[in-house]
Amino acid sequence: MAGSPEVAIVGAGLAGCLLACYLAARGHQVTLYERRPDPRAEGAERGRSINLALSERGLNALRGIGLDDQVMAEALPMRGRMIHPVHGRLDLQLYSSDGLRSINSISRARLNAALLDAAAERAGIRFAHRLTGLDPATGTMVFEGGHTAKADVVLGADGAGSAVRAALAEGAGLRERTDFLQHGYKELTIPARDGAFALDPGALHIWPRGTSMMIALPNPDRSFTCTLFWPEEAFAALDTPQAVERHFAAVYPDAVPLIPDLVDDYENNPVGKLGTVHARPWQAGGRVGLIGDAAHAIVPFYGQGANCAFEDVVVLNQVLDESGDDWTAALPLFERRRFEDTSAIAAMALENFVEMRDKVASPVYRLARHAEHA
Ligand code: FAD
Repeated sequence: MAGSPEVAIVGAGLAGCLLACYLAARGHQVTLYERRPDPRAEGAERGRSINLALSERGLNALRGIGLDDQVMAEALPMRGRMIHPVHGRLDLQLYSSDGLRSINSISRARLNAALLDAAAERAGIRFAHRLTGLDPATGTMVFEGGHTAKADVVLGADGAGSAVRAALAEGAGLRERTDFLQHGYKELTIPARDGAFALDPGALHIWPRGTSMMIALPNPDRSFTCTLFWPEEAFAALDTPQAVERHFAAVYPDAVPLIPDLVDDYENNPVGKLGTVHARPWQAGGRVGLIGDAAHAIVPFYGQGANCAFEDVVVLNQVLDESGDDWTAALPLFERRRFEDTSAIAAMALENFVEMRDKVASPVYRLARHAEHA
């Protein structure tokens, strides 16, 4: 590849936009291809998580393009988790013994919009371009409608159901498996009450119920987004408004008065699937590579999927430094550098589901935490 290579990034989500900014800063000519119309004009897709917990790993990556302050200006720091038992007192479990360390609740739509603005200043973006085919040997991409484009390097930042990954599986020997959980998720809204937060906005709220749970994260407009993580069949079992109301009154009694549109939200919001993507190799011929969820989607219980995708960008940037922008060396090195860490967080995220939905509510666990922090 003589001169600065042309890089195509498929997917203008969180990882794709950040990656475009980092690569443009290296002098690469970058074009993003995104299947959706511009979400800044269209609004958020219903059913995708409305907010995210952003931690230091993700912030560090945003710092690299000077976007951290802008994103943090709207963030709501959560210093611990607030446990809501069926009956009895709330229990705040701090994330650090001094109560000073926190994770940050941020709006996914606003984060994506900030990243799209940053990417648009530095790279080309083609919206409404859904990749449907890719020849890994030549870098030729085919989009819905038959339009084609070619690039020296093609990077798949196209999420858990990656079309780039599918092309590598079809034509470049990639092996993949997605382990779906038996649990799905559905979102509900706790609106602001008389203009104020209806719950403590300085905590991540959890209603642990053994085999299932509900959580709630605060939003800048003083609402909370609740997410139910339930076995899939449990969603279908509540098939009348009365059944929904009865179940919530019995299992989440303190939340019921806070969710005025409970039945409407429940009946109209979709049930999302959750899974872990296992795939290898993440690249072919040093020309086509995967990043973020496309390479290693994980379940959301550690709040680390986006953080991890952002950290991928930092590491890819480092290996490009080390290899002098030689993509044929950088892509295999990136995979070697990241595989173990991303496998570890995938396993930890699964383990944390059991901790959040069950262990945090046990008296033994609570005593141990209080002793730790005494
Ligand atoms: P995505 O954000 O999925 O972006 C992929 C982009 O590619 C999208 O814009 C999509 O439209 C586009 N695309 C897809 N296919 C094509 C195609 N064929 N052609 C062109 N474009 C395409 N992570 C955290 O760090 N903290 C959290 O608190 C957190 N909470 C979560 C809660 C839930 C319920 C879920 C489901 C996930 C959560 N995550 C969280 C994980 C996080 O959402 C993902 O890890 C993150 O979005 C991955 O970023 P990405 O850019 O790799 O993929």
